[in-house]
Amino acid sequence: MSDENQGIREIRINPIVPSESVLVSTARGLRPRKEEAPVERDIREHVEKCPFCTGNEGMTPATIAAWPTPTDWKVRVVENLFPVLSPQQSGNALNFGLQKVIDGYGRHEVVIDHRNHGIRVSEMDVEHIAGMFSMFRDRMQEIYASDDRIKYVLVFKNFGAAAGASIAHSHSQIVAMPVVPENVVNELNSTRQYYQKYNQNIFHTLIDEALTFEATIYDRQSGEVWRKINVGQYIIQRGEYFIAVKPFASRFEWEVQILPLFDQADFIEIKDEHLNDFATVLKHTMQRLNHVLGGVQYNFFLHSLPHSPEWQDCVESYVWHLEICPRTSIPTGFELGSGLFVSTVSPEDAAEQLRSVSL
Ligand SMILES: [Zn+2]
Ligand SMILES: [Zn+2]
Repeated sequence: MSDENQGIREIRINPIVPSESVLVSTARGLRPRKEEAPVERDIREHVEKCPFCTGNEGMTPATIAAWPTPTDWKVRVVENLFPVLSPQQSGNALNFGLQKVIDGYGRHEVVIDHRNHGIRVSEMDVEHIAGMFSMFRDRMQEIYASDDRIKYVLVFKNFGAAAGASIAHSHSQIVAMPVVPENVVNELNSTRQYYQKYNQNIFHTLIDEALTFEATIYDRQSGEVWRKINVGQYIIQRGEYFIAVKPFASRFEWEVQILPLFDQADFIEIKDEHLNDFATVLKHTMQRLNHVLGGVQYNFFLHSLPHSPEWQDCVESYVWHLEICPRTSIPTGFELGSGLFVSTVSPEDAAEQLRSVSL
């Protein structure tokens, strides 16, 4: 690592999407940003007026799906009362001069993650987390199969007001969209290009590198060690079939991604027997984040292969993944204006802190 007083100042290119980059600047300069406060701990198990608590099922739209059963549910899916996209819209594309509009066709569902009002993902049982993700899988399957106007089904979670959650009770969301979101398109395009060029799946190459690569880079002038990369340095949690890694060029300081260790582009293909291992890796990752950051506000979202025919040739080059993005500060004008996000904690330090939490 470079001199403590100097810190790191370098622009890192995201290997998955090279058009994205992050400025890692641990030296003072672009700081301070306004820090986000951790979420206040709400440990209530049941809240009388909460629409997502048991006994208040009548306060939400009707149940679309439930796990394991609608009457004795542990996870419950309902229509969103205030959908961002709706099946009432046409989905037609219209042009006004240079302005193009696609009517807001789609679906917006809310997944009530747990009966317990104040529970966090890090506190849920592994079996419960597995049940929650089996519900995401089944809803994605059902929506894609029932409606070919849907081009992408995005599953995500907002936790904490800064991350966009408006109801405190733990919940996730499913938005079925008439377009593939740009972030996913960029990942699909550049990983397909990589595959065509090197005949390798870049996700697996990066995982292999994280598992085996080590290097020592010396300063040319002084001959001192400039950077040392150790084997496994970026690995936060390892399961039998899944791995949680800290990306080398992550835009959010504490961002962690969970990926399968095998070829699987489409999340809906995840098998029941793999869900527990995935849930274990996720639970331990959330415990580590919670331990280091305390009640952190975060978003997680699933990136997976879209079902429309034009993306089917990405099945070899793409791997689905869960991106977990803790919100520890508000992006600045520099970041919004340049698209260059600033990370004031080096990914190496973040990974080290997360890995050294004893569970
Ligand atoms: Zn509640
Ligand atoms: Zn992604």
